[in-house]
Amino acid sequence: MNIIIFGPPGAGKGTQSKFIVNKFNLYQLSTGDLLRKEIKNKTKLGSEISSIINSGELVSDEIVSNLIEKFVSNDTYKNKIIFDGYPRTLNQAKNLDNLLDKYKQKVDIVLKLSVSLQTVKKRILERQTQEKRADDNEEIAIKRFKTYEKSSEPVIDYYKQSNLLKVVNGEAAISEINSEISGIIDAIKG
Ligand code: AMP
Repeated sequence: MNIIIFGPPGAGKGTQSKFIVNKFNLYQLSTGDLLRKEIKNKTKLGSEISSIINSGELVSDEIVSNLIEKFVSNDTYKNKIIFDGYPRTLNQAKNLDNLLDKYKQKVDIVLKLSVSLQTVKKRILERQTQEKRADDNEEIAIKRFKTYEKSSEPVIDYYKQSNLLKVVNGEAAISEINSEISGIIDAIKG
């Protein structure tokens, strides 16, 4: 089963992905984590993307598509991926379908975590003190939320049309979200 976890920054995608990984024996593929690793390791790609990430904009579709192909093409991860933070644009969603098709896989569920801008700001400021992410401050949080609002609608419509979208209230307590998500995945596994 391949799952997409979708939602604005601070929605809890990372937290919920880790829970799903443990409970259902899957692998988390976070494009944000992969990109931050490039910056940390001071690679050529890292130097190209750091200013984009720190301004709250999206890096190019081509860069992230290349990063995810390494996972999708690897048999260890076959039909066991949680896509965390990917796709973020309609073009990425289409690229993902083509890529999964190439490796005889598909998207099984898209979980959308809904949260307000107010909650996003609060959570990002909390995370800033814990994780010290360079793009976690109030001003960039607002920018990232706006970037999400601009690009997410066509992605959501795309998955609504294919009947894959499940909306989860991301404002609920973590344990409540855990059980709602478990219920959705169990129902699909049948
Ligand atoms: P995240 O950790 O998912 O919040 O991602 C952090 C930042 O990495 C985002 O604000 C973007 O600049 C970049 N990023 C992560 N995933 C993507 C993606 N799928 N497409 C474009 N940019 C991305």
